[in-house]
Amino acid sequence: MHVLIDEVQLWDGTGSPAKPRTSVEIRNGRIHWIGPASQWQGSRATVRIVDGRARMLIPGLMDCHVHYSSPGGPDWITRFSDPLPEISIRAVELAEASLRSGVTTARDVGAPHGVSIKLAHMARAGEINAPNIRAAGTWIAHRGTYVSFSRHFGEANELRDAIRMEIEAGAELIKVALSGWNEGARPKDAAEIPFSKKLLSVAVEEAHKAGFKIACHANDPASCRIAARAGVDSLEHGMFLEQGDLEAMANNKTFLVPTMSVWDAMLYYAHAVDWHEARKKRAEDLRQGSRLAVMGAVRAGVQIALGTDAGGGAARHGRIAREAELMVECGLEPRDALIAATSSASKLIGEDERGTIEKGKIADLVLLDANPLENVGALRLISAVFQGGRRVA
Ligand SMILES: [Zn+2]
Repeated sequence: MHVLIDEVQLWDGTGSPAKPRTSVEIRNGRIHWIGPASQWQGSRATVRIVDGRARMLIPGLMDCHVHYSSPGGPDWITRFSDPLPEISIRAVELAEASLRSGVTTARDVGAPHGVSIKLAHMARAGEINAPNIRAAGTWIAHRGTYVSFSRHFGEANELRDAIRMEIEAGAELIKVALSGWNEGARPKDAAEIPFSKKLLSVAVEEAHKAGFKIACHANDPASCRIAARAGVDSLEHGMFLEQGDLEAMANNKTFLVPTMSVWDAMLYYAHAVDWHEARKKRAEDLRQGSRLAVMGAVRAGVQIALGTDAGGGAARHGRIAREAELMVECGLEPRDALIAATSSASKLIGEDERGTIEKGKIADLVLLDANPLENVGALRLISAVFQGGRRVA
């Protein structure tokens, strides 16, 4: 595969300003040459030329929080319990939809039956059109808490075992979910949530010892207090993070993955399918909370990586542009929202051959018909998507 993206405006994700009239040559799946269009010296007869004029080339987007096993929508949680054949086939379709929206790398942070692990293997083998997927197996959660199909544990040793079992099952990162007790599950004299910083630190230690990253779901105040201080690699959602939590995250180099598409989609369904008041109120609270958390994170110097929670929240797949817009609404510059979706995400995921457009890196690229640095909604105007140098959309 030999391609020249010719005379394009290049935003390479390294922090440099966009460069006009640049050409990018791809050979054998990697970036072979980058320079002023006028200086390219190859033969135009032997290369496939893609017209880049009035277009912008950016690194392939990375969604750090998806669940391809559920389609999202107003009843997203029950869809995780659909029959396994349906979940499996759907996951393949949703992953392809995601790829077409410019997502060339994704973290699937939890699926029933290890579907995400199989999906990641198929994607890597080139058997399906899908992003490069890093999959957690299933959630690990305390018995009596949210998500019935998690791998459950009760105390520290069981937690260590659960992590080892996920790794044996082929998980590439560990996902631990902190939350309050389910209705009626709280034993007498038990704490508000069945987790402590000490217990979460056990999970961090066990995952890191094996060389794995750990992502932590935390979306209530008590869970945010704990997750911010335990040294996890990323805190997912975090809509109740306060300034002290954010400072702890900055010190621990814990990324925030804000998943604002969750409340954005919930607010839509609240009127589209006429949800009851309590659910509407919850969505409003999440919106208010995440705006404060994201702005506070920027001030505290917390690294932010983009994640939509497509499938795992009400958000549907293929709408990464909306998450970037919500980041900008929260006060990020469009450039910083793009960094969250490219180079910052690649640091969190551990993809050092992707995330920027530089000589020698894997050619995961998105070609846009407008400039997302001016209006981040331009991420919807996709002209082409390249994955490992191959045009996939
Ligand atoms: Zn999720």
